[in-house]
Amino acid sequence: MAYKSGRPTLRKTKMDGWYEFYREACPICGKVDQCVIHEDNNRVWCLRVASDIVWGKNSTMQGWLHFLNEDNRTFTASDFANADTGSHQEKKSDGHLNRVYRALLSEMELRPEHRAMLKKPDRDMNEEELRIRQYRSFPEKPYEVVRKVVERVGNVEDLIGVPGFYSKEGKYGRYFTISGFPSTIMIPFRNHKNEIVGFQWRVDEVKNQVVYSSRPDKELEAYVVKQPNFVVAKYKGIEVFRGSMELKEKKDIKLSDGRYVGTIKLDKGQRYMWFSSANKESGTGAGPLPIHVSVPSRVLKNWKVGQLLKTDTVVVTEGPIKSDKSAELLDQMLQTAEERLSYGTTVLSVPGVNSWRLLCPYFEEMGVKNINFAFDMDAEENPDVRRYYHDAINFFSEAGYNVSFFIWDRSYKGLDDLLIRNFLPIKYNIHGEQMLSDNKDVY
Ligand SMILES: [Zn+2]
Repeated sequence: MAYKSGRPTLRKTKMDGWYEFYREACPICGKVDQCVIHEDNNRVWCLRVASDIVWGKNSTMQGWLHFLNEDNRTFTASDFANADTGSHQEKKSDGHLNRVYRALLSEMELRPEHRAMLKKPDRDMNEEELRIRQYRSFPEKPYEVVRKVVERVGNVEDLIGVPGFYSKEGKYGRYFTISGFPSTIMIPFRNHKNEIVGFQWRVDEVKNQVVYSSRPDKELEAYVVKQPNFVVAKYKGIEVFRGSMELKEKKDIKLSDGRYVGTIKLDKGQRYMWFSSANKESGTGAGPLPIHVSVPSRVLKNWKVGQLLKTDTVVVTEGPIKSDKSAELLDQMLQTAEERLSYGTTVLSVPGVNSWRLLCPYFEEMGVKNINFAFDMDAEENPDVRRYYHDAINFFSEAGYNVSFFIWDRSYKGLDDLLIRNFLPIKYNIHGEQMLSDNKDVY
């Protein structure tokens, strides 16, 4: 395998012997990301396609076990050997992360281009909100920032076990830096005690990437060599395709003798990514992924670090800027105490609809009674997402919570898009009964 210089397509997970498909489609559902395969190469834990064997019922993600046979077994031992090995550092405690991340925030700034982006009408944030919420631009010279962070926290060892930080060999020896690139905004994730326990980057410009829809022959490798859509595919290191592809286009790759070696697809990259240094020297992965607790900025301003937030009512959505903005707008729009209790002004952001189980300890510690789910209106269109959504609703109502969900006109994608136009969503309980008086502007 000497010529195998390509990036791995499987990633080792925390579960012994299991690898995630992250640049390659799962043989069961055909999607990239999340599903995992065992190194014995005989079984897949798919998170999208159901089977008779439910798996991970009590873990944060639920999926189904599928057995592989000769028809759908496309991986070889070398794929497992070549997999990303993941981080060996355990993530440190929330208190520790908070100390290091706050030092990091103190040494970073929000650059004018990002400030302008967040003030545009579709976000409509003001200087005060930006200051209190502590959004930052990824630094131009990260190693210089990290040097100052070390001075603040006192010890370079303190950076180990903190996702995003890793060490590098330099001209003058080993030094620590952070993982990322400058054209991104870093959004702090706050837990229910106002401890900063993680970040997501929002990339200014989403990059495209090649994924493999099918790759029976693992010698095939393909990359975007020039953004947005110029792709090169190689087989055993020799170029077999070069050209532009449309977004979402699939291309069968054949060798000069006509032999089929796989199908590549040009896909949109992600807008939001975790601040993580998995697979890097002394680095740490972002998992288990954090929940972000958003409160109105006037509350955040006075929220002491370490002080547990208690509230009767929470809204649950996905995406940290969305939840921050929604908390702000709900606070401005809800007038009476009754409305505030019904809708809530505390918004929790989950890493994905399928990771709703992460909410359990939060609800318990925060003393939550009423849960309002407010996932994007297109969530219902994806059958997998719909199923997770319904599972979450059933689970929490059976656990004794008062569960409702927000509905709004589909022309507004997320809750924040609706609120920013000064409309409130309609609240339904799980029996489909409308829960709001009809004297408000609602969509
Ligand atoms: Zn799958």
